[in-house]
Amino acid sequence: MTIATNLGFPRIGRRRELKTALEAFWSGQADEAALRATAAGLRATHWDLQQGHGIQHVPANDFAFYDHVLDTAVMLGAIPAGYGWQEGPVSLATYFTLARGGAAVPALEMTKWFDTNYHYLVPRLAAGQRFVLTENRPLAAFREAFAQGRRTRPVLLGPVSFLALAKTIDGSDPLDLLEAVLPVYAQILDELAAEGVAWVQIDEPVLALDLPAKTRAAISRAYAVLAPNRGVDILLASYFAPLADNLPTALALPVAGLHLDLVRGAGQLGAVLEAARPELWLSLGIVDGRNIWRTDLRRALATLEQAAAKRGTRQLMVAPSCSLLHVPVDLAQETALPAELKPWLAFATQKLAEIATLTRALDEGAASVADALAESDKAVADRRASTKVHNPAVAARLGAVTPAMERRASAFPTRRARQQARLNLPAFPTTTIGSFPQTAEVRAARAAHARGTIDDAKYDAAIAEWTKQAIAWQEQAGLDVLVHGEFERNDMVKYFGEQLAGYAFTKHGWVQSYGSRCVAPPIIWGDVSRPAAMTVRWTKFAQSLSNHPVKGMLTGPVTMLQWSFVRDDETRETVCRQIALALRDEVTDLEAAGIGVIQIDEPALREGLPLRRADRTEYLRWATASFRLSASGVRDETQIHTHMCYADFNDIMADIIALDADVISIEATRSRMELLDAFKVEKYPNEIGPGVWDIHSPRVPSAAEMAELLRLARGRLADWQIWVNPDCGLKTRRWEEVRPAIDNMVAAARELRSMAQAAE
Ligand code: GLN
Ligand code: ZN
Repeated sequence: MTIATNLGFPRIGRRRELKTALEAFWSGQADEAALRATAAGLRATHWDLQQGHGIQHVPANDFAFYDHVLDTAVMLGAIPAGYGWQEGPVSLATYFTLARGGAAVPALEMTKWFDTNYHYLVPRLAAGQRFVLTENRPLAAFREAFAQGRRTRPVLLGPVSFLALAKTIDGSDPLDLLEAVLPVYAQILDELAAEGVAWVQIDEPVLALDLPAKTRAAISRAYAVLAPNRGVDILLASYFAPLADNLPTALALPVAGLHLDLVRGAGQLGAVLEAARPELWLSLGIVDGRNIWRTDLRRALATLEQAAAKRGTRQLMVAPSCSLLHVPVDLAQETALPAELKPWLAFATQKLAEIATLTRALDEGAASVADALAESDKAVADRRASTKVHNPAVAARLGAVTPAMERRASAFPTRRARQQARLNLPAFPTTTIGSFPQTAEVRAARAAHARGTIDDAKYDAAIAEWTKQAIAWQEQAGLDVLVHGEFERNDMVKYFGEQLAGYAFTKHGWVQSYGSRCVAPPIIWGDVSRPAAMTVRWTKFAQSLSNHPVKGMLTGPVTMLQWSFVRDDETRETVCRQIALALRDEVTDLEAAGIGVIQIDEPALREGLPLRRADRTEYLRWATASFRLSASGVRDETQIHTHMCYADFNDIMADIIALDADVISIEATRSRMELLDAFKVEKYPNEIGPGVWDIHSPRVPSAAEMAELLRLARGRLADWQIWVNPDCGLKTRRWEEVRPAIDNMVAAARELRSMAQAAE
């Protein structure tokens, strides 16, 4: 019999109950018992739901109060000094201090989980680190479910991925701690075996990466120790990319089962079927755990049958490609999606049913699930035929794009001369990144407008007033290139998506980003086009209030793509280029409206980078070309800016240069301009504004501090290249911080100007 399985279920709850409970606890409105009760309720509900949909291997210990990597660190006793733990069980207070920081200690560093938008806390280790089992969490979760009459499959993060994702405070290699951590994992497994647990899922997602020989050897060593004679079967899971050159290592491990991501790694099945030893269980991850589209059951079944033909159905599991943590909980809650679109989607709950259906089809034949297959066929056919999805005009425009449209008419030096003549900016020009504080007042007006309690005219009048005040204040502060402030925008992707054809939005499509924070990514379901201008009105209005240049502000094509659920019936490149063409029209409309400076934000360019090095060149080629396609419809004298933040850009410098933006503003404060070393080495040819104010903190930097950072920048760049600006937009800051910080920033720029002049 084939087994229907799941690798992990979203923790937050269909109405974000965990978010509510966590925030109530943190604010002191609810006690620990209340939080624990909500969490236990969610776990029970999710176990119930999975079992009810026919999942036989239901995961346990996939729940976490904040993050499963932090849970693992806490379980292993890998808790740095200063967080209030010495030995024994770890209190919830210590746990949340590690996650969120405390009065005297900072939170652990947080970073993205592979190429997802989920963030994990980076374990902080040291050479000679001691590991102890503070609590056998998978066992506790198993027992909790068992007490409710359910047998679950506990899941835990494997030792090699745990170490590979960690950082040490002393620069030693965390992998050197493997021998120290293995006995604790062995203890966990022995206790699970003693409890009568049949299967345990161990995640080693590092197998999706290009691995140095040392990491591969660590994998072999770890499972040579952990797998044999333990009395519990290990299913080793990796996901997000094919195993590729890690496949021989994975297949040689003495584990009982191997999970394969057959969505991202469809091509690897043939090789696995050839090479896997006959007694190895294969978990076939055929239902997409990273996207929200209904599975084409007939196609999926054909793949599963290929495996069954080769190996029989006795040792097969059907699974999602990865944990369902990365998709929203339940499509049934969506009542406002386009009627045509909804039947084409599957969220976590719907994916469970798909897994069960496919399992049954494999065991009992396609006829046993005829209705489900017919429904899936209909969705596939409807999607293919839909005029909402396929717009011949978009395809025709894309087909007519010429290489010339992907580059500016003149080279940068020519453009620079024309822009200088037009804009007449001082040396070290000052600007901001776009948004000004989204105050309670701004948010309240937007909410009221959305509810219909204030009408368009009232709402627009409020936006106009805030914009007016922002322009007046910027003039008074002495900024050189102004912005309108983005008061009309809810979110930098949503604002544009709502005005573009091809986008749809959910009401409850939340996905955990970190801790209690969730995002509801838009869905790109059809050809993207721009029915009407999107930003011209407010930008033009702002420009009409000042003689200084006002910068138009757009979200770039790669970021629009990266922060959405993207249709899976077109390549990402095609979708990105469609968005680029829509933005190109917006850029030229802004130019025609008299806007001389236009910024196209691409904060997500770096995070779109594929996990495997071999795939990166291709991505960077179309990503940078899409940006240039959006930006290159303008005359030489129109200045194009871009902006990037959140990431380390050292390894994609050549591609940042390839964007050929006239000016790039970039987050640089926290690295104290060290980031600019890469710009220096690569001889960045255009202008740059390295951020001088870390806007993530409420702290107001002094003029002297910012001048010092600018002096560091001058050591790495030519004076004519340097702009002066904050690290990012100011929407999360308060005016009480923004006003003095910008005053100080302008003062720092002025100081620099007089210094440079004196030196001449
Ligand atoms: N223009 C946007 C803003 O100022 C940029 C945001 C971002 O880079 N994340 O808010
Ligand atoms: Zn930014």
